[in-house]
Amino acid sequence: MASIAEADIAFTTVPHPAPVSDEVRAQVLANPGFGTSFTDHMVTIEWTEGKGWHDAVIGPRQPIALDPAASVLHYAQEIFEGLKAYKQADGAIALFRPEANAARFNRSAERLAMPALPEATFIEAIEKLVALDKAWIPEGEGASLYLRPFMIATEAFLGVRPAKNYKFIVIASPAGNYFKSGAPAVSIWVSEYTRAAPGGTGAAKCGGNYAASLVPQGEAIARGHDQVVFLDAAEHKWIEELGGMNLFYVFDDGRVLTPALTGTILPGITRDSLITLLREEGLTLEEGRYSLDQWRDDAASGKLVETFACGTAAVVTPVGKVAGQQGEFTIGSGGPGQLTGKIKNRLVAIQRGEAPDTHGWIRKIG
Ligand SMILES: *Cc1c(COP(=O)(O)O)cnc(C)c1O
Repeated sequence: MASIAEADIAFTTVPHPAPVSDEVRAQVLANPGFGTSFTDHMVTIEWTEGKGWHDAVIGPRQPIALDPAASVLHYAQEIFEGLKAYKQADGAIALFRPEANAARFNRSAERLAMPALPEATFIEAIEKLVALDKAWIPEGEGASLYLRPFMIATEAFLGVRPAKNYKFIVIASPAGNYFKSGAPAVSIWVSEYTRAAPGGTGAAKCGGNYAASLVPQGEAIARGHDQVVFLDAAEHKWIEELGGMNLFYVFDDGRVLTPALTGTILPGITRDSLITLLREEGLTLEEGRYSLDQWRDDAASGKLVETFACGTAAVVTPVGKVAGQQGEFTIGSGGPGQLTGKIKNRLVAIQRGEAPDTHGWIRKIG
């Protein structure tokens, strides 16, 4: 449990002395892309053993100085989160379920032997940054301000043990649609590599998982696909998830299946939200396991009618084609399915404030 003193940590704000001009910012916001441009400010909070969290600052975004022996550079003690701030229909600014990101951040911290950050501080850091940089929130379909909170081990020490100093940072990046083409349906490559093994770090949102996924993702791209899908490490049979998105399977009898969270799958907040929305649609939502062979057979027989992937960055993305060492198959017509489109629209409408927030998912800022 965080102490009250920690939860009460006070932020100092240092406005940027030379922020980006209105003109240049307008150019960026007209075509933000994903992850290439950043706002004027950032949050930093320090953690020191024996002292806890201290020196919370919202200041100019700038490079950080690290000792070359900083643990993060050698043993990858790093975790991160990803969430979005949306300009709502009524002009308000809203976050989507930041409490869930705060809780998951601390679960990742625990797995990587890092200190917990009080959830209230995690959320306050994000709210203060978004409020200060609100002119950077792009408008229009699929646009948002992507927030990237992360924590790194900064202690200069080459021994192998948890570090005694950490830095929590939040940066913000205006984002358009994740898939450049706004692709109607993606093609995915079944990798021979594995992403996560039982007892490993698959359920933690840590940079190390991503470093290991770059070669398989590169292989997918080289073969002409958009994304990579990973099978389980033990049997190489059960479908787990994409490099950064969870999967759902839609059947012709109204059943929807998503892989169960068995420790090797990242517990997506989009996944969790869609489970709720799909149940409200009257569908039978099951969490279980699904094999690659079954997927291929069900796609061929028509029993499986849709597959979609989901995550904060790309929201809901239809999967049209699957390819692997044993050949390829098409799902449904190969284009976006009906339920995929419907459930995406329901989620986006809630995030945008165009549909009532009956689940308490929206947190308005300011
Ligand atoms: C972040 C992430 C997801 C999606 O999680 P959301 O909370 O929905 O954004 C799925 N898989 C992996 C590996 C991830 O890192």
